[in-house]
Amino acid sequence: MPKPYKTPEWETEGFNHIWLPYTQMQTASLPLPVISANGVRLTLANGRELIDGIASWWCTCHGYQHPHLVKEISSQLDKLAHVMFAGLAHEPAYTLARRLVSIGPKGLSRVFFSDSGSIAVEVAMKMAAQFWSNRKEPDKRKFICFRNGYHGDTMGGMSLADPETGMHRTLNHYMPEQYVFDIPNSRTDLAALAESLEEIKETVAGLVIEPLVQAAGGMKFHSPETVAEIHQLCKEHQILFIADEIATGFGRTGSMFACLEADITPDIMCLGKALTGGMMGLAATLATEEVFEAFLSDRLETALMHGPTFMANPLACAAANASLDLFEDEPRLAQIQAIETQLQEELKRCHKLGNVTDVRVKGAVGVVQLSNTSGEYILALRQRFIKESVWLRPFSDVVYIMPAFTISTTELTQLTDAVFKVLAA
Ligand SMILES: *Cc1c(COP(=O)(O)O)cnc(C)c1O
Repeated sequence: MPKPYKTPEWETEGFNHIWLPYTQMQTASLPLPVISANGVRLTLANGRELIDGIASWWCTCHGYQHPHLVKEISSQLDKLAHVMFAGLAHEPAYTLARRLVSIGPKGLSRVFFSDSGSIAVEVAMKMAAQFWSNRKEPDKRKFICFRNGYHGDTMGGMSLADPETGMHRTLNHYMPEQYVFDIPNSRTDLAALAESLEEIKETVAGLVIEPLVQAAGGMKFHSPETVAEIHQLCKEHQILFIADEIATGFGRTGSMFACLEADITPDIMCLGKALTGGMMGLAATLATEEVFEAFLSDRLETALMHGPTFMANPLACAAANASLDLFEDEPRLAQIQAIETQLQEELKRCHKLGNVTDVRVKGAVGVVQLSNTSGEYILALRQRFIKESVWLRPFSDVVYIMPAFTISTTELTQLTDAVFKVLAA
């Protein structure tokens, strides 16, 4: 039985001063106060528990408060919580860089740290543009991106999102204009893309793609072959291939990185979200030695002029190292495969629901695609899921499950049952 609960003052008073993410504040309801979390369970202030089906925006991949993560962060906290990264070095960052290079696609040999995914994308774009200007090709400075893509909320990242359906579309006038294509899904599409690239290549610095799964822009999937073919086209047209693996990285799609499944090495790769196991903010932009070398000279002008204050924060790097330990010591990829099978099995009955147009699963991503949605309907769904004691946040026209990889089969069934029940109602 939930305890009698009185909304505390911090919440009611504080709410008048908080500006929430992606929220129309005029109609916003009070967010649910969380007092603790463990595994996949969020404990609310009123004593209720919710099963988190989206791993706090897909980042808490080992569940909440995994003891190994907590321990490693605490022990780092005793030694060095923070130090600037220019002119000073620390072991957690250097070790993490070496480890990321060793597990990433072969040939990505340099790591630039930042504090959030959006910044990792900005850094990637800056690297690509300056790569070409350092090579005396300053006209190559635009980017190619794809419909249904999402690459963060800062200026560069926003300019790469879908200009029609993307959440930043009201700011289109404010952003640099990029080339937007559909992800090719046939030979004909590929040939058309190749033709376009031939036309525009003199003006293009890089192509940015979320490989295999386009996440926040609509949860759309494409094949590893498609990724490999786009990568090949980039090579042929002297366009840097930038893989935004902020959502797909660290096992989410079934392999450690989506690029590994496509068997390619991107020129630049962005990581974030699950990098620290969801314990704190950290992101990384990885580059090949070829990209790195274009910045070398005897002048500062050709160097990468970027340096977030909190880049490579030691606590965050310790968390990331601990998260990589867990990928080595616990059977994460097997768990992801089991989640994939279970999602396929348990979500397929949603096919028969009237408002469902597609059900798809890739790794630990399960998507139920709806027809006829409105903003109000989506908000109502969110409230209904809370009533079912699950934390799911459908958006646009999709209901999706992206749980921690440590979720039990029973907990996952509770999520898929809730999806079926709520959508059937
Ligand atoms: C979440 C996300 C980002 C932005 O990361 P933040 O840490 O929220 O800035 C960029 N690209 C992709 C693919 C993402 O999923």
